[in-house]
Amino acid sequence: MVDIFDSIRGKVVLVTGGSRGIGKEISRHFHMYGAKVAINYNSSKEEALKLKQELGNNAEIYKADVSKREEVRRMVKEIEETLGKVNILVNNAGVMYAFPFEQYDEEKFNKMWDINFKGTLYTTLEVLPHMKENKGGVIINIASNAGIGTAFEGTTFYAISKAAVIMLTKRLAFELGKYGIRVNAIAPGWVETDMTIGGKSPEEIVKIEEFMKARTSLRMVGKPEYIAKFALFLAVADYLTGQVIVIDGGRLDNLTHSV
Ligand code: NAP
Repeated sequence: MVDIFDSIRGKVVLVTGGSRGIGKEISRHFHMYGAKVAINYNSSKEEALKLKQELGNNAEIYKADVSKREEVRRMVKEIEETLGKVNILVNNAGVMYAFPFEQYDEEKFNKMWDINFKGTLYTTLEVLPHMKENKGGVIINIASNAGIGTAFEGTTFYAISKAAVIMLTKRLAFELGKYGIRVNAIAPGWVETDMTIGGKSPEEIVKIEEFMKARTSLRMVGKPEYIAKFALFLAVADYLTGQVIVIDGGRLDNLTHSV
């Protein structure tokens, strides 16, 4: 039997924000298929150390704030010296601050812009020489369905930062195709992580889950592994670039323009 994920074996994969939530599942999935995984973290050292211990060989942790280009540059150099040149980059690190449009908060907007958009840009710029030398590579950007317009009140500025990630994905696919570098984005719907349920009581979580299930065609709650599985597929999808794949359980506000 042919293993379609065989080409992932031995590849160096950098997952930004790779120790928690969606990033953690992506790190696990690539490791499961034999990749050497560079797990980036910024504030969650404990989680990163725990994941490294869980995965064992072929998993290393690297601290960097992706919104600071110098830190990203240093991290990518460290990865090259320890695991090798990056073959697959997953730009996953992100933050979401919700606030009403009329209560525009410059500091929070700047943080989302700097981490979600510039973090994606800086990390891409730093691994690009690796990919060009390798004559190919894969970039997977974790955007959001907010970035294509699916809406919850209070998330306008988060949506703007993710729309920028989507545009960057399409333009980079166009710019980098000639080097054999494929660039695609995943736009997840609501996924159960600290970002969405952090600090909530079990009762509150059940209520939110029911609310979110009712908003999907599949009547399902989003889990990090659904995103991770698709990231694996993007890594081996030889003829796919410049695409934004929405993984949201068939959100009704997206499919039916209602709710
Ligand atoms: P999460 O559980 O809150 O995890 C966020 C991750 O981003 C953490 O690993 C965090 O690392 C990292 N991060 C934040 N700021 C960073 C910085 N300055 N430098 C490096 N890493 C940084 O969130 P999640 O739900 O897994 O989100 C992952 C991605 O999916 C984000 O881009 C998010 O926007 C996107 N997304 C999530 C949902 C959802 O419903 N959950 C939906 C659509 C899109 P540290 O803890 O080490 O700082």
